[in-house]
Amino acid sequence: MIEGAGIERFIRSDLITFSGYAASTFPETLEGKVEVPVASIIKLDANENPYGCSPRVNQALATHPYLSIYPDAGQTELRKLLQGYAGIGAEHIVAGSGSGDLIDLILRLFVEPGDEVVICVPAFTMFRFSAEMYNGKLVEAPRDKDFAVNVNVVKAAINKRTKIILVDSPNNPTGNMTCQDDIVELVDTGLPVLVDEAYVEFAGETVAPLVRQYRNLMVLRTFSKWAGLAGLRIGYGIFPSEIADYLMKIKLPYNINAAALVAVRESLKDIDYLMSRVKAIVAERERLFTELEKLKFLKPFPSQANFIFCSVLNGKASQLQQKLRNKGILVRYFDRPLLRNSIRISVGKPEHTDALVKALQELEEEIGG
Ligand SMILES: *Cc1c(COP(=O)(O)O)cnc(C)c1O
Repeated sequence: MIEGAGIERFIRSDLITFSGYAASTFPETLEGKVEVPVASIIKLDANENPYGCSPRVNQALATHPYLSIYPDAGQTELRKLLQGYAGIGAEHIVAGSGSGDLIDLILRLFVEPGDEVVICVPAFTMFRFSAEMYNGKLVEAPRDKDFAVNVNVVKAAINKRTKIILVDSPNNPTGNMTCQDDIVELVDTGLPVLVDEAYVEFAGETVAPLVRQYRNLMVLRTFSKWAGLAGLRIGYGIFPSEIADYLMKIKLPYNINAAALVAVRESLKDIDYLMSRVKAIVAERERLFTELEKLKFLKPFPSQANFIFCSVLNGKASQLQQKLRNKGILVRYFDRPLLRNSIRISVGKPEHTDALVKALQELEEEIGG
């Protein structure tokens, strides 16, 4: 044994101070910490689907025969299934263990230490996680006041070391979209552009068809939100086939587990059911927005996703989040530059909206006095 040597000596020096990812709360871990039983916690903090997945998924998993052999590293069936849903050839598709896995894979492909990664802040925090993981230098292009991407600001942030531009649309946590013209303008810079469309089913607009025309546009999707499969970890990307080939080579071989493939197969057989749920969530989003607007201490922003971002105008967002949590309602709060004193509320079922609004009304009285 080496005298006095801490393990840090051997750990990558850049990871010793790495801050990690602030993940959402798993409800069971709140046992005894909130005023309600775990089973009645209303989880509006991670944009999950309140209706769960297609019941076909549960049925098929119960009798699945292939759990003891390795899944197909080439994703042959999966890519074919996704080809039908995404409307683009299988050679353009790569699946990941959640789209977070693909963000990581894409940055692994493009970013060498010191390379620059441009993000449009406020943005999805996984972008930062993976950029830093590969020692990329994160360059922040601030969005406009209404959170629209400012293409000129992004272009001004580009230089010789820029390797990729990342945009999530609709943006998490603000809920607004980036229009196709702006995306095209970014793609016309010639740099690789990644558009994360995790919420596309709720927004109804996509830039995916453009992938055929450009060699540098990539689009990410996930089954976590619309198909209610956040726990099974399945996402996919639509890529120029050249990029897809590289990604297939550098991914961990068995990144898609057998259960996730079954879940995709069954979900795609049950699209009508799942899309009727998406429709219900979109309708509920509009009702939630109207209800939130009535509260004087919150300012909700219009959303095209399955969540609503709100500025907290009176009181502290962190305390509001804590008080809602005590009542058994989980939301996300932010208090960092460009995201001062704000919360993000996922759209739940109508009864979740009712419970949330009632809790917020009580807290408004408490805060407003
Ligand atoms: C939720 C979300 C995802 C999905 O992540 P998964 O890893 O597929 O669960 C991706 N991007 C954004 C912007 C998200 O909000």
